[in-house]
This record gives sequence, structure tokens and C-alpha cells, in this order.
Amino acid sequence: MQTRKKIESVFHRPAQYSMVGDGFRVYNYFPNAYRIREKVSPFLMLDFGPEFDFGPSDHPRGVDVHPHKGFETVTIAYKGSVEHYDSAGNSGVIHPGDVQWMTAGAGILHKEFHEKEFSKKGGPFEMVQLWVNLPAKDKLTTPKYQSLVSSEIQKVILRDNAGEVNIIAGEFNQIKGSATTFTEMNVLDIKLNKDGELTANIPAIHNTSLLVVEGSIEVNGQKASQHDFILFKNEGESIQIKASEPAVLLMLSGLPINEPIAQYGPFVMNTAQELEEAFVEFQAGKFGVLN
Ligand code: MN
Repeated sequence: MQTRKKIESVFHRPAQYSMVGDGFRVYNYFPNAYRIREKVSPFLMLDFGPEFDFGPSDHPRGVDVHPHKGFETVTIAYKGSVEHYDSAGNSGVIHPGDVQWMTAGAGILHKEFHEKEFSKKGGPFEMVQLWVNLPAKDKLTTPKYQSLVSSEIQKVILRDNAGEVNIIAGEFNQIKGSATTFTEMNVLDIKLNKDGELTANIPAIHNTSLLVVEGSIEVNGQKASQHDFILFKNEGESIQIKASEPAVLLMLSGLPINEPIAQYGPFVMNTAQELEEAFVEFQAGKFGVLN
């Protein structure tokens, strides 16, 4: 018998946004605004840049070359387009509906900018960047990159014209998602029509949360508004959502990685010594070359 997953807390959008480079106007839900690290593992960071109208610019805004080591960055584009390049030789454009799943692993350099054509015209821009931790045994995995194009992301159409679920990673209703992951997790991009309903069953042991990207919903009997972030307790399995108005939701769940975290900026390792090594390697140019 499935029981309703209990809600731990509904967090509102943090008061202050910050700029990542000059192109990403984001609210950092965790770890900065809400200190919930052990309740959201394997996810390390959630930056949400709600719709913002960037005016036209001949110089694409963004973040120039920077390193990452020991985890994965996942960029989900809702509106606007992002162009990226990395030191493993990958590059591409993330359009609305697309997802870029980059495994930094042993160390990589990359840069992320508004795509040139988008930049010239300007317009609404809305993105999420998630950081996903790697277990100790996989922290030094070879860097790789999964480009998940909207049309290729596994999609489930819900009954009664309720909406759809794009399975970015993990599974929904026993249907497997598109990205490969190192630990067990679900990343679901959910779109509900007005009055659309959805039931998701997620194991109690999974750390589970839900971001209301757009719209407003009722979830397990509790109301949540646009940009709210719902954190569930590790009790119960069933999540019932009803959209009070058309809604876009990001559901995150996964088995916690119960290992120590040593983080400094873009490096996430297990020990202080490994962090030190990451710095030395980065400074010695071991993460490759990217201009
Ligand atoms: Mn980055």
C-alpha cells in the first residue's frame, strides 16, 4: 500500500538573486539560501534563473572559462538558448526543452554563453542548473557530455489531457529516462495543464524535492506557488499533484550519497587533501586547454 509522501517544508524563492558571469541571473536555492544539503543528496546545488528578459546584445553574455571536478553539471533550458564549449572538445547549443548533462569527473574546463542568435535578438531566458554529486568511486571518471535534445527525451503523455512528463533521468511509471547516471536518481520535467493531475511513486528512501518553475499547484494537499521549492520527508511514497493553473515542475529524487563532502567553489571532493590536489592539477593545466 502506497502512502502519501509527507512534506517537510515549502521554501519560497530566495530574496536575492545573484549573477553567474553576466548571463545567468539566478536564485540559489541550495546550498546557499536553504541549508538542506543532506536532505537533497545526490544533488549538490540548485540554481534557478526564472524568466528574465535580456535585451539584445552583440556580445553574448555568460561565464567564461572555468573548471569543475568531482561532480556533474546539468543545465535545463526552458526559454532562450545557451552555447557551450569544453576542454574535452565538446560543444553545442542547448535550446528550450534540451538538457546538457556534463560529467566533470576527473576535471574539465568549460564556458557557457547565451547563443549568438538569441543574444542578438534578446528575449525571455529561463534556465536551471543542477549540480549532481558523484560517489567517491566515480569522482575521477573520464569527463563526458550527454546532449539530450528535446525531441529525443523520453516522454510520457498523461491521461485525461493532464499534461506530460519528460524523463530526463531515472524513471517514471516504469519507463526509463534518457540520461545515464552514476547513482540512482530521477530528474523529471513535468508540464501540467490547468486542473491536470499526476501521481508519482518515489521510494521513501529517496531524497525528494519539487521546484515550481511556473504556475501553481496543490501537492499532497498543500498549496505551492510559482518558484516555491517543496522538500519532502523520507516517509511515504506517493506524490499527488494537481495544477491550479498551467504548471511547469522539476521533480528531483535520488538515493543519498552518504559520503563526506569537501567543496571549494567548482571542486567537490571527499577530503581536504583531494581538494588541494584539484587546485594543483587545475593550476598545472591538467584539465586541458580551452580558449
Ligand atoms: Mn560551469
